[in-house]
Amino acid sequence: MLVIMAQGATQQEIDEVMTRIRALSYECHLITDESGVAIGATGNGRGSHRLQVLECLTGVDRVVPISTPYKLASKETKKVKSFLKVNTLEIGNGRFVVMAGPCSVESETQLMETAKAVSEAGATVLRGGAFKPRTSPYAFQGLGEEGLKLLAKAREAFGLSVVTEVTNPNDVELIASYADILQIGARNCQNFSLLKEVGRIRKPALLKRGMMTSIEEFLMSAEYILSEGNSDVILCERGIRTFETATRNTLDISAVPVLKEKTHLPVIVDPSHAAGNWKYVPALCMAAVVAGADGLIIEVHPWPEKALSDGAQSLKPDRFRTLMTDLRQLAQLVGRDI
Ligand code: PEP
Ligand code: MN
Repeated sequence: MLVIMAQGATQQEIDEVMTRIRALSYECHLITDESGVAIGATGNGRGSHRLQVLECLTGVDRVVPISTPYKLASKETKKVKSFLKVNTLEIGNGRFVVMAGPCSVESETQLMETAKAVSEAGATVLRGGAFKPRTSPYAFQGLGEEGLKLLAKAREAFGLSVVTEVTNPNDVELIASYADILQIGARNCQNFSLLKEVGRIRKPALLKRGMMTSIEEFLMSAEYILSEGNSDVILCERGIRTFETATRNTLDISAVPVLKEKTHLPVIVDPSHAAGNWKYVPALCMAAVVAGADGLIIEVHPWPEKALSDGAQSLKPDRFRTLMTDLRQLAQLVGRDI
């Protein structure tokens, strides 16, 4: 249920509504934007008809049910687009954000070289996995905390923000102590204990769509993070599994406008894991800009042929530079800034 406060409602009136919602064993979520103040009541409380009665309180404009199964992620709850701040960067606030870097952090030389190249080309967030979810237990699993330290070093050296994946709920605090954004990978999109743990910290989360999750399930996963109190969630379409084998996954570009219609959360696209082949990455990046995405996350490696993971889909720095130039031109045509 959504309790929409009247224009000019006092703090005391807002507090009174919240107290009553909690007394009915629901959780309260204060939603403030340009359109005013609303309070979301979620959870298994003592009957929505009791919430409806709050309409009689002074300062309350109306009480409306939220028809979607995801509540806090829904456009019905918050009509104005959400954006989040990462250091000096704003994600979801008009400017198109490019995150780039290697699939895995492999060594200091590899990371520094990549960070330098991507920042010179105009990326503002450095990606790189330190804890890698690999299909094979024999494949490179990441450098762990050593990788996080290297990411922090690259952030200092190049003024980039850092996004890195968390695969285990027990590692959330450790990773949050180094990273600016916590990535939840496709394989963990429905790892509910991990989602809840990331919901409890105060660091932005980049949630990737699972390879088999519908858009509604994807939004329900975001809801797990939001419902724990973390409102800074970025959604990432990274390709889904289909019958097609010519590409690693099938980029569901339609997920961008569909998500934009259903949620206020920022949406970015990962063309690298969708394509699985660097040659297709530029075209998919262009599609993301035109479809209205808020940004991209792209794999870049100085020596893809030697990469310990995802070399085939990684762009070399010079190709990334060219891509950035092309993206800027395209963005101008559709009235966007990169
Ligand atoms: C990654 O970003 O390197 C990764 C493992 O991505 P995904 O979870 O989308 O497969
Ligand atoms: Mn990868």
